[in-house]
Amino acid sequence: SWAHVRPAPPDPILGLNEAYLADTDKRKINLSVGAYRDNQGQPWVLPSVRRAEELRLQNEDRHHEYNPITGKNDFVRNAVALAYGEDLCAARHIAAAQSLSGTGALRVAAEWLHLYFKGNPVVYLPQPTWSNHPAIFHKAGLQTRTYRYFDTRTKGLDLKGMLEDLDHAEPMSIVLLHACAHNPTGVDPSRDEWGEILEVINHWQHLVVFDMAYQGFATGSVERDAWPVREFVRAGHQVMLAQSFAKNMGLYGQRVGCFSMICQSEEERGACESQLKKIIRAMYSSPPGFGSEIAGTILADSNLKAQWFKELEEMSGRINSMRMQLYTLLKDKHHLDWPHVKQQIGMFAYTGLGAGHCQKLAADYHIYLTLDGRISIAGLNDSNIEYVADSFAAVAKD
Ligand code: PMP
Repeated sequence: SWAHVRPAPPDPILGLNEAYLADTDKRKINLSVGAYRDNQGQPWVLPSVRRAEELRLQNEDRHHEYNPITGKNDFVRNAVALAYGEDLCAARHIAAAQSLSGTGALRVAAEWLHLYFKGNPVVYLPQPTWSNHPAIFHKAGLQTRTYRYFDTRTKGLDLKGMLEDLDHAEPMSIVLLHACAHNPTGVDPSRDEWGEILEVINHWQHLVVFDMAYQGFATGSVERDAWPVREFVRAGHQVMLAQSFAKNMGLYGQRVGCFSMICQSEEERGACESQLKKIIRAMYSSPPGFGSEIAGTILADSNLKAQWFKELEEMSGRINSMRMQLYTLLKDKHHLDWPHVKQQIGMFAYTGLGAGHCQKLAADYHIYLTLDGRISIAGLNDSNIEYVADSFAAVAKD
């Protein structure tokens, strides 16, 4: 019998989504889930994605055969090039595999580290971080600890705390870094600050796992957003990287991603890739086809890729404009000066609202956000932003 099984607590983010769906009030607004919405509050299928879908359906050779264990070669090659840039790809030996979006890439990374990492098998995560990070690494038998990241006083980066914690971690530990658009805080280091972080990590020979779930979403440019990853690789780091195409191509449910790791030689790359295959074979055998064919078609076609870059700018531009409008409404209409809202970057704003405020927003105003005060800016639009600003002001002043 399974009588000994107790219900698990709901996922902090997906649980809120359920509460939102059950709410019958017309004014309800979902700011909890990090998924892009257009100015009408609707999911947006990128026109480049639509076009790639059509092209695939027109292809007479299409079939539903299994993919190779590490995914479609062309997709993987192009995904890796998008992250590291063509020059670094040519100069380095990179083992890679298509993954079940960013989560799956992290899960493969975790399994790999559990099996083969010879240093201290402890993963240092930023405080705070995406709520799924600890669970993913624990599942593979790794321990996690945190390093200071967010300064609650300035609502910006606690660089000093971060550097101290990485400095005091046991040498050769594992450090997870968000490549760009840090979730949940929207706080990214500047290039100078990245330089200092790189120095400490170098000094203690920590291994870096980059989580890049938002390439192109922070600044609108895939090149600029990938800069920290490339900078670490240029400095000689054998980074590991989890890429996701959920947000930047809007392929959330298709589970399109890529796991990659820098190796020291072609021989090492071959050995690592063969072991990656063994890990993947036992976990899910091979990745799904359709989503990676769409992403692969876009990445391989210079016209479609250029179109996609424009659409990325459109998404990040709309988010940015909402960010500025929220800041201005709070300041001009309600005399609340929240500069962090406009300084933060990417899909989220970390408002500084407490759990009590957030519960009140859900119960009295039908606005759903995670209890840490994080909002998905993409959930804001011209029709709801004033109501959101008014409601934030009402609970903040309560
Ligand atoms: N890492 C971070 C920081 C994220 O915010 C997300 C998505 N919320 C992911 C990884 C993974 O997302 P997915 O598996 O949908 O690619």
